Amino acid sequence: MSKEKINSLIIGMPKVEIHLHLEGAFTFEYLFELVQKYSNDSEIKSIDDLRKKFVFKDFAHFIETWFWKNQFFRAPGDFEESAYQTIKNLSQQNVIYAEVFFSPWDFAAAGLKIESIVEATISGIHRAEKEYPINVGLIADIVRDHGAKTSMQRLNQVTPYFNKGIIGIGLGGNEKDFPPILFKEVFLKARKRGFRTTAHAGEASGPESIWHAVTELHAERIGHGVRAIEDPKLVDYLKAKQTPLEICITSNLKTKVFPSLSEHPFPGFYTEGLMVTVNSDDPPMFGANITDELILLHDELNYSLEDICIFTKNAANASFLDESGKKKIIDVVDNYLNKKIKNV
Ligand SMILES: [Zn+2]
Repeated sequence: MSKEKINSLIIGMPKVEIHLHLEGAFTFEYLFELVQKYSNDSEIKSIDDLRKKFVFKDFAHFIETWFWKNQFFRAPGDFEESAYQTIKNLSQQNVIYAEVFFSPWDFAAAGLKIESIVEATISGIHRAEKEYPINVGLIADIVRDHGAKTSMQRLNQVTPYFNKGIIGIGLGGNEKDFPPILFKEVFLKARKRGFRTTAHAGEASGPESIWHAVTELHAERIGHGVRAIEDPKLVDYLKAKQTPLEICITSNLKTKVFPSLSEHPFPGFYTEGLMVTVNSDDPPMFGANITDELILLHDELNYSLEDICIFTKNAANASFLDESGKKKIIDVVDNYLNKKIKNV
């Protein structure tokens, strides 16, 4: 089968995404609308100008641009429409199920109540779910940067929305200065309340951060986890436990966790038998959506369509759905593989 044919089958393939930040997954079209609504920035005259603004010189520029775009989210309707457009965009890539991080606290400067942002986001997602063949679970990222006390307050703020749109909590942000161990109590309380759990670890910090995420926080999944490669004992542990790793290859290359694709541990982890999933993190920020990530695996690392279906089914198995929900997705992926691929 030609490369083009395989790529077109990847584009059509039903997909699952379990590591995507809503704040980093806006569409350029909608952000451009917001820029026009709130600013007369003479620098941004078109969507193309906006795209150019998201080509980063370095990590500091990336952070600066992240905050720059946040200023254009000012009213509940902006969050509602952005969530709707983002989920619509995922569905257009044939994503049938997604678990999506969101962090309403990033927008405190807009003077909105956290509850308003949460409710607007859930409403936008529900609207997209009604119109498109996609289901979404929200994971509130309680962000480590302000310490455990603030994270506990955040957990309390989202608890009324548990199972009303929000299914889990996540821990993102500054991993180096705020290690997982600080959030042991928050995770314990979240688990008791029924929240499913995942923690970013092993991205900016090394293996110890992952060890603590799994043994102290009892996180069910690890966001990134790629620096497990530095500790063979940890690799063995993650393999034995089949702890799902939410791997985001393009993100790791752009933030320079690894200098090149040839040094990325994904292929080694997969061969070794770890539970790897493929995700996009912040697509417009890093210039690659979930479809691009899967095509990269075929184009650059020579993975077959069967392998790519395995990564997708791993994501379904690693999801926070119940067993019948996981099976439904796996059946859809298998049917696609059987019909479109085996009969070619
Ligand atoms: Zn992330």
